[in-house]
Amino acid sequence: VVGKICQELGFKGYLVGGVVRDILMGRRIWDLDFVVEGDGIKVAERFAQHYRVNVHPFPEFGTAHLKVGDFKIEFATTRRETYPHPGAYPVVEPASLKEDLFRRDFTINAMAISVMEEDFGTLIDYFGGLRDLKDKLIRILHPLSFVEDPVRILRALRFAGRFDFKLSKSTEKAMLNALSMHLLKQASRGRLLKELTLAFREEKLLDILKLYRQYKVLEELIDGFQWSQDLELKLEKLKEVVSWHKIEFPDKKLEYGWLYLVILLEKVKGEEFLRDMSAPAWVRELYRTYKEQAKEVIRKLHQAKKPSEVYLTLKGFSEPFYLLLAIEESLRPKIVLYMEKLSKLKVDVSRFSGLKGKELGKAIENEKLRLMDETFTLT
Ligand code: ATP
Repeated sequence: VVGKICQELGFKGYLVGGVVRDILMGRRIWDLDFVVEGDGIKVAERFAQHYRVNVHPFPEFGTAHLKVGDFKIEFATTRRETYPHPGAYPVVEPASLKEDLFRRDFTINAMAISVMEEDFGTLIDYFGGLRDLKDKLIRILHPLSFVEDPVRILRALRFAGRFDFKLSKSTEKAMLNALSMHLLKQASRGRLLKELTLAFREEKLLDILKLYRQYKVLEELIDGFQWSQDLELKLEKLKEVVSWHKIEFPDKKLEYGWLYLVILLEKVKGEEFLRDMSAPAWVRELYRTYKEQAKEVIRKLHQAKKPSEVYLTLKGFSEPFYLLLAIEESLRPKIVLYMEKLSKLKVDVSRFSGLKGKELGKAIENEKLRLMDETFTLT
């Protein structure tokens, strides 16, 4: 359909960027990015008419967004971008497909597929993206790429972690150079933190964090941050807890990435950082609770000899907090018992028919405590 519309308007249309990479890798795709040599918004409007959906144009960027079913589709006019200073928002002008691809971050993200009738499906690969995809390499398109946009440092490590790719030799050198110039500190904080948030949503977050450690990236971004053996171990343990939770409670759609961030920020004053990251309220609350109360709760849990003591210690906290506590392996049986059994225990209230209000509540609670100590044992 896009090809036909482009043909009618005398334009040329291509799929570009991440979607092309994902198609070549045989991955599922939900975001379709098209560029048009001509006028992307015009094509988007006709496309929207054809599918009878709404279109959201952004004329200042020459782009338009729409949704068809589960697919998120973007149309853009092919453009060149110049960065007035490192990490700034770019200045945009219309340009050829080749220039549009050249402004992109890495060779694997700088390929296009034609959607025109005459050469439908043809791969356009000016910079060796397909070869790098096969060699599992992240490669920038020109040596100053990271200087031009330091956000790409984080993107490179995110893709390397996600796909288990390496940085090409020259890319690594350029990255180290950009890092040594402390460009991450100078780049737009908003853009950096937005990119960082994407990393914290990745399935292979731990691998990405290991790369962050290797290249000392978080030290640049978080005041006072330092890696330690203990921190790395905690993150590994958190991964075990998260895998367990995903299997045990598949319906609870938790954004686990935030838990890793809470642990990373444990030793610094992270409130401001979380605010800058636009972390949801539950994350900021969790961070506060973890810093203020985790030590004491852990001490009490260690001491708990009966299920009722475990229950009374853990009652009232949030599920993410329990997951953080479960980082400590020796506490896991107690936490699991609480989450799977104690917190769900129900008592027969018909026995307390004479009681009301506070008294009834108290009687039920006491009965619960009695029942759990009778039913469960701590191993
Ligand atoms: P994901 O799979 O995470 O969505 P993506 O490659 O689709 O990855 P987007 O952030 O949606 O990433 O960006 C789409 C495309 O825009 C990229 O594939 C890349 O070509 C280009 N791009 C994005 N950010 C930058 C950047 N900072 N510098 C240069 N090109 C970029």
